[in-house]
Amino acid sequence: MSGLNAAVSTLSGVGPKKAEALAKLDIKTLTDVLFHLPLRYEDRTRITPIAQLIHGVDAQIEGQVIDIRIAFGRRRALLCTIEDDSATAVLRFFHFSKKQQQLLQRAHWLRCYGNARAGKPGHIEMVHPEYQLISEPGTLQSEAGLTAVYPATEGVGQHLLRQISTAALNTLNNDGGLLELLPEAVSQHFQFTSVSMIEAINYIHRPPADANLAKLIEGDHPMLQRLVFEELLAHHLSLRQRRKVREGYQAPQIKPKSKLYQDMVAALPFSLTAAQQRVINEIANDCSSVLPMQRLLQGDVGSGKTVVAAAAIANAVAANEQCVLMVPTEILSEQHYRCLINWFEPLGITVAWLHGRVKGAQRNKLLAALVNGDISILVGTHAVFQDEVEYKKLGLIIIDEQHRFGVPQRLALQRKGERDQSRPHQLIMTATPIPRSLAMTFYADLDLSVIDELPPGRQVITTTVISGQRRNEVVERIRHACLEGRQVYWVCTLIDESEVIVSQAATDTAEELTEQLSSARVGLVHGRMKGDEKAEQMAAFKSGQIDVLVATTVIEVGVDVPNASLMVIENAERLGLSQLHQLRGRVGRGDKKSHCLLMYHGRLSQNARSRLSIMRETNDGFAIAHKDLELRGPGELLGVRQTGDMRLRIARLDEGEAMLDDIRVVADDLLSNSPEIVAQLLQRWLGRAQDFATV
Ligand code: ADP
Ligand code: MG
Repeated sequence: MSGLNAAVSTLSGVGPKKAEALAKLDIKTLTDVLFHLPLRYEDRTRITPIAQLIHGVDAQIEGQVIDIRIAFGRRRALLCTIEDDSATAVLRFFHFSKKQQQLLQRAHWLRCYGNARAGKPGHIEMVHPEYQLISEPGTLQSEAGLTAVYPATEGVGQHLLRQISTAALNTLNNDGGLLELLPEAVSQHFQFTSVSMIEAINYIHRPPADANLAKLIEGDHPMLQRLVFEELLAHHLSLRQRRKVREGYQAPQIKPKSKLYQDMVAALPFSLTAAQQRVINEIANDCSSVLPMQRLLQGDVGSGKTVVAAAAIANAVAANEQCVLMVPTEILSEQHYRCLINWFEPLGITVAWLHGRVKGAQRNKLLAALVNGDISILVGTHAVFQDEVEYKKLGLIIIDEQHRFGVPQRLALQRKGERDQSRPHQLIMTATPIPRSLAMTFYADLDLSVIDELPPGRQVITTTVISGQRRNEVVERIRHACLEGRQVYWVCTLIDESEVIVSQAATDTAEELTEQLSSARVGLVHGRMKGDEKAEQMAAFKSGQIDVLVATTVIEVGVDVPNASLMVIENAERLGLSQLHQLRGRVGRGDKKSHCLLMYHGRLSQNARSRLSIMRETNDGFAIAHKDLELRGPGELLGVRQTGDMRLRIARLDEGEAMLDDIRVVADDLLSNSPEIVAQLLQRWLGRAQDFATV
């Protein structure tokens, strides 16, 4: 192979060992090198006088070595002091070898690159800077452009990555045509494709010294947008293909409006909302077709998705199909289990519950009943698609809170029901409001149903933003609420802290509250508790034996205790709006007037203030999601980070929004006129990930 298809091992400096390490970064060919894009850039185009260093800013300096010694303080360190015309700086190394020490001792002049930080008063230092010995200042040429910093891995450092990207760029510039996949007739038409791929790739790897770094990093630089466009296009195409693959399969035809369904609905203590009725029909309609349903049901927290799922289950069970309902947490799985038992057992249908703690004989019995077909409905966590789990005839899969699951998990479950060219119907439910335009592009393999109405009688949740300094008042408020027979959640959050620390914080808070609220019964759930302990506390809260439940965000998804009407969220300023909305959705589920207190600590930044005030102003999940997109970017919103469902290399979904219309038009064109280009785009941007598309 030659040109950009050549293997990286054909480059000088890349032996078999390095090639293997590069493969871990998914870099096998020169093209892969070109699409291994920088994470950020460093400015090594000039030398900064030491006196002008700024705390926290990266810079390149040169200086004469004037002192070198080992400091034995709290932490042993090698300190090397250098001086230029303007001032002195200390280079601090906590890890150093004898050899390194000797090298520095012999050095006269150094050029360093690193992050400056304030040391002792009036002193500036760099911790572990990169350094280079030089014979005198000003002799080494500075870089002409900004220096790219790439995602690296063990055995593959920046030096190698820069070396091979230079080589790949050289090959590209001699042999460019290969890079441009979009037909000229297409690319000419659209704003985002007006620069060529060659220009864009060269620029991204080697931006000139005067490049607008802020724009490059923010993603709204036209050169970067050219790549973003292509990446989003590739994802969109892959979803469209996945949809095509599905059309090659058959699914059991399930009749709508079965007697079982009618009996179940008749026994409900409420009547369905018009929106619920509409989506129930949409789903029933899908399930009655020979094509496997693949539908995303979106409904704000509390909109009543569970009963919609039950309606679909009823029709499937009536048609002698097994159903599985998969949820991300054990707490939620128990809640759904209890719900379904309530609705289905009186009608003579067996419901079973499978989770990690079902073991031994009990588990064997359950698995046997499942494979026999004695169990019609299975509710559970990830346990429901493990290897030993077999179904007799799985006809309907429902996944609740889908943002917590990744594509691989969804597929593993789907395979449980696959026979030859037949597969189960799938319903995927989410409370995460996805702006419609995004949903159409990024869930293009799914049909979309939306419950856009809350059950009647729901009280608006009043939200108050309050400083942690007023904690005592908050506790008083809880005391009153409990006296009135209301129940309270107290949510402890600490973003970026480990589960251990958060769980500890929750435990401490529960102790404090127990002390302060002598008359109230305080419960506790956190991620470090055993499953049965958690279940016990949840059950006690649900049945009213606990007044105040102190919890971590384990209660974020789905938990439904209608009598709870007050929620306190600590450190609210650190959470995303959509997450706050999810949490807040645990109250306001009954007919009681509900309140949510967002407690913050310290001073609020301008951004945090405006974010929290949005929570105060609206209860509308879609409006909140839109604001979240604006203020935070979409990764959090779609749960991309948690699941890797759609791992984007460069694009962020909010940038995508402006491109969506064009992307759809280009995709239509390519799918009908140039299938070979589609394949190449998928290979380029999704590589191995697109295996998913074909299963
Ligand atoms: P979510 O969409 O957040 O999953 P749930 O399915 O948990 O919502 O429903 C929230 C609460 O509303 C439950 O207690 C449920 O029984 C109740 N509910 C659902 N549909 C209706 C309705 N049409 N009328 C009244 N209450 C309803
Ligand atoms: Mg739910």
